[in-house]
Amino acid sequence: MRFHILTLFPEMVDICLHASILGRAEKSGCISFHTVNIRDYTTDKHKKVDDYTYGGGAGMLMQAQPVYDAWLSVHAEEKKRIRTVYVTPQGRTFTQDTARELAREEELIFLCGHYEGVDERVLEEVATDSISIGDYVLTGGELPAMVMIDAIARLVPGVLHNDISAETESFQNGLLEYPQYSRPPVWNGREVPAVLLSGNHAKIAQWRLEQAEKRTRERRPDLYERYRSGE
Ligand code: SAM
Repeated sequence: MRFHILTLFPEMVDICLHASILGRAEKSGCISFHTVNIRDYTTDKHKKVDDYTYGGGAGMLMQAQPVYDAWLSVHAEEKKRIRTVYVTPQGRTFTQDTARELAREEELIFLCGHYEGVDERVLEEVATDSISIGDYVLTGGELPAMVMIDAIARLVPGVLHNDISAETESFQNGLLEYPQYSRPPVWNGREVPAVLLSGNHAKIAQWRLEQAEKRTRERRPDLYERYRSGE
């Protein structure tokens, strides 16, 4: 799967994308990243990419021209129209279901806004989806894009060494994940639950399901209601 990231601050995203699990997956060829610096596409001789908003108001707005040309540049390489996510607090909220939906695409473009956002006219031209990471406002779209890309990329086959772990994690079956323990069996006077040391896989699976249900009921009653009603 290939991710294109349109941003005014490529250095913010490059650090995240090339490290750790995503960096390793990129080296192995499961996923690839293409960061596009929107500023490279401005036709302004002073390299300006933002301007005042019509009608007044504080702050600057990213202008349509450089954003559009940066978006077109991706299509010059790829030829077909690519699903384009504008990350914005005004979008639908990103969830594990959204990650699963987007992980089915072969390619995605993420458009990161900055300052007061982006001229509405270019959003109408290029954005197929408007997606938020939550009801709060950040200074730019780079962190939200990273959050979404991370969640999507780990669902791409081969990115996690053990694909089972994505299947058992929180939200995958409508529940939060059960508590987990590693060595030693006793730490600070706290013991690992005996069933996990029993070697009885059926009992362990039953205990984990019960714990996942209990934890979800206590911490996320909204999620638990949906799980119980089979939605
Ligand atoms: N003026 C905009 C508004 O009130 O809706 C907020 C602009 S915000 C300061 C600048 C950029 O950060 C946005 O264009 C968007 O790309 C990104 N951003 C901020 N909060 C976000 C969130 N919760 N989810 C996704 N993107 C966000």
